[in-house]
Amino acid sequence: MRFDLITLFPDMCAALAAQGVCGRAHQRGVWSLQTWNPRDYTRDVHRTVDDRPFGGGPGMVMMAEPLALAIEAIRADRLAAGADAAGLPAPVVLLSPAGQVHRQALARRWAAGRGAILVCGRYEGIDQRFIDTYVDQQVSLGDFVLSGGELAALVLVDSVVRLLPGVLHDAESAEQDSFNPALTGLLDSPHYTRPEIWRGQAVPETLLSGHHARIQAWRRRQSVRLTRDRRPDLIEQARAAGRLSRQDEACLDASQAENEE
Ligand code: SAM
Repeated sequence: MRFDLITLFPDMCAALAAQGVCGRAHQRGVWSLQTWNPRDYTRDVHRTVDDRPFGGGPGMVMMAEPLALAIEAIRADRLAAGADAAGLPAPVVLLSPAGQVHRQALARRWAAGRGAILVCGRYEGIDQRFIDTYVDQQVSLGDFVLSGGELAALVLVDSVVRLLPGVLHDAESAEQDSFNPALTGLLDSPHYTRPEIWRGQAVPETLLSGHHARIQAWRRRQSVRLTRDRRPDLIEQARAAGRLSRQDEACLDASQAENEE
């Protein structure tokens, strides 16, 4: 899987490919990340990539041509490297507050793909004619405004790469994360490690029992309760999709009764 990032700040992007689980997987060649600076595709002495907006208003707008030339260079490079088949170019994805909000289900879909060309905006944004001509998809991190698309692109790539086979030490660990099918889309349960007593607080006894089935049931109850408290919308979604068991419903009824006492 290969990601190509078009960015005015390539140094911001290097850490993901160098550190942590994604960094190790990058070193092993499980995925690759290349950055492309639009300034390298300018033709003037000042290497200009932005200009004032037509119609007036604050700020600057990224110009279409350097971005278009960067895309064309990336497509040629991906083809030459065998990352794309002829006639099947990688999707061009713009990070933008106007995009579809990123979610775990989308990360799973991306993890089955070949990667993408990610365009990181800066300033007020990008000339719309570039977007209309080249962009296949827009992705947002949420309802807030970042200074640029780099952090959003890195978040997207991280969420996808950690799902690739062999990236996490324990293959089950991604499955047991929040929002995943193994948890029927609910939040993960709390975790504990040594020491057994920390500043007077003991680890829940069940986790020390060594009884696998009891531990599983305890974790599921915690997960159901936590999700009900923090994200009741996820409980409703799981219920509507028929993903809550009788035990889950009993746990919800019992904790509702506890709350009412
Ligand atoms: N004027 C734009 C607007 O109000 O929608 C915001 C531009 S923002 C300062 C610069 C760049 O940051 C955007 O072009 C986009 O690439 C990125 N960006 C900002 N917020 C984002 C978000 N929530 N999700 C993804 N990318 C974002």
